[in-house]
Amino acid sequence: MLTNALATVVRELQSALGKRHVLWAPEDMLGYEYDATIDRARPDAVAFPANAEEVAAVVRITRRHDVPVVPRGSGTGLAGGALAARGGVLCVLTRMNRILELDPANRVAVVEPGVINLALQDAAAAHGLLYAPDPSSQRICTLGGNIATNAGGPHTLAHGSTVNHVLGLEVVLPDGRITWLGGRQLDAPGPDLRGLFVGSEGTLGIVTKICVRLVPVQAAVRTMLADFESVEAASEAVSAVIRRGVIPVALEMMDHEIIAAVEHVLHIGYPLDAGAVLLIEVEGLRESVEADAAQVVAACREQGAREVRVAESEAERARLWEGRKAGIGAIGTVTPNFYLLDGVVPRTRLPEVMRGVAELTARYGFRVANIFHAGDGNLHPNIMFDELQPGATAKVLELGGEIMRLCVDAGGSITGEHGVGQEKRSYMEWIFGPEDLRAMERVRLGFGASELFNPCKILPTGHGCGQAHAADARRHLATPGVYL
Ligand SMILES: Cc1cc2nc3c(=O)[nH]c(=O)nc-3n(C[C@H](O)[C@H](O)[C@H](O)COP(=O)(O)OP(=O)(O)OC[C@H]3O[C@@H](n4cnc5c(N)ncnc54)[C@H](O)[C@@H]3O)c2cc1C
Repeated sequence: MLTNALATVVRELQSALGKRHVLWAPEDMLGYEYDATIDRARPDAVAFPANAEEVAAVVRITRRHDVPVVPRGSGTGLAGGALAARGGVLCVLTRMNRILELDPANRVAVVEPGVINLALQDAAAAHGLLYAPDPSSQRICTLGGNIATNAGGPHTLAHGSTVNHVLGLEVVLPDGRITWLGGRQLDAPGPDLRGLFVGSEGTLGIVTKICVRLVPVQAAVRTMLADFESVEAASEAVSAVIRRGVIPVALEMMDHEIIAAVEHVLHIGYPLDAGAVLLIEVEGLRESVEADAAQVVAACREQGAREVRVAESEAERARLWEGRKAGIGAIGTVTPNFYLLDGVVPRTRLPEVMRGVAELTARYGFRVANIFHAGDGNLHPNIMFDELQPGATAKVLELGGEIMRLCVDAGGSITGEHGVGQEKRSYMEWIFGPEDLRAMERVRLGFGASELFNPCKILPTGHGCGQAHAADARRHLATPGVYL
């Protein structure tokens, strides 16, 4: 049952957006109480605006009635960022899914935030162009979500993450005003508010249009699969490749658990007896690609690779990538639940950190599957568990905290690409001092955010969200979703 205040909000939303574009029935809320991680939080209503003016109306209505509002794309986020932590209205951008302009001569595209990442890549490819950031979730995640999380992906090792490809953004500010940050050129005059906005996880406003840059598709590409006895040996090879002066466009690792899961469903032909494989891609001019590929093969062999297979055709290359892109989904076929972690460490520390992850996971009595952007030092341990086992979820979250601490102690950080969201805000104190956090809070206020604009995200403090101190992290983690 909606309270009187919420019933009024729903009525006003319906008159601004149309009745069929506002959901509020409890059974309709079930599909919106989670993203792709473990936490849950149920909204009171879900609004589906069709354009910037309607987004502004959603923001103004919720603000006028002191109701929380949270932007959301496809809900594939892995940090609880798109959850309605304090209830209120989810503003879902998936109806705004048009590619408004694709200008091959100037190599820019202008899109709405609900455009699916792969749809833009396909549209650009038709002109021999590439939108480079390619999160593994690219078949379903939205550009708006990619901007908010500053998404990475297998090919961001050489190309850089989302922030390097965004030229300008139209945004609805937390007070309902519509404005542009940046523009159509690489460098707009004045402070780089566009750069500040990318990665702010929907806490500074809602993206309603995006201008991105496109790059030419390279003339030649070589894709290799190197097979190692162990994760550690593969981790050593990551730095060995880069030490040779080659920056592959992608350098991805999959361990034996992932290989088994992928082969179980897709039969790609990955070596089932390998401890880990590296999927490595180099691209560029025809003349330089062969030389770079030879360097990669030599570096892998030097680090004990049992075999380095070079894809001989586009079909073979696509097949090798299909296994990588489907790898996380495949884990779901071999375990009832898994918790996907995202940390980052200096590349050279990967061998010891991967050893630490294996030791910690074994100590907690779980199995772990690793699939990650090794070239970026961006690890993704997937802890397999069964949430029906009493206490398992709390235990897995506690283990997640320990793994994040391991990354920080190795000179790394608590996220490489998925963001902080609701899930990791208590860890922010491991990285930032009180003055840093206050400065971030002031940025939020500077954009006009109230306490109820996407509350309980990123910062460990916030009115009505309690204090999520790092010292209390374990206690918070032991009660997932309880932040109020
Ligand atoms: C199988 C799998 C593989 C993945 N692989 C990768 C990967 O390789 N690299 C990577 O970076 N991530 C990856 N992810 C995580 C996720 O797909 C990305 O974070 C993605 O950018 C989220 O997009 P979304 O549309 O699903 O956003 P949502 O999950 O809906 O939202 C994510 C965040 O963005 C905010 N947001 C959404 N839309 C807007 C908007 N229009 N304006 C302002 N804020 C907004 C939300 O409030 C939230 O904080 C993966 C996830 C899965 C499930």
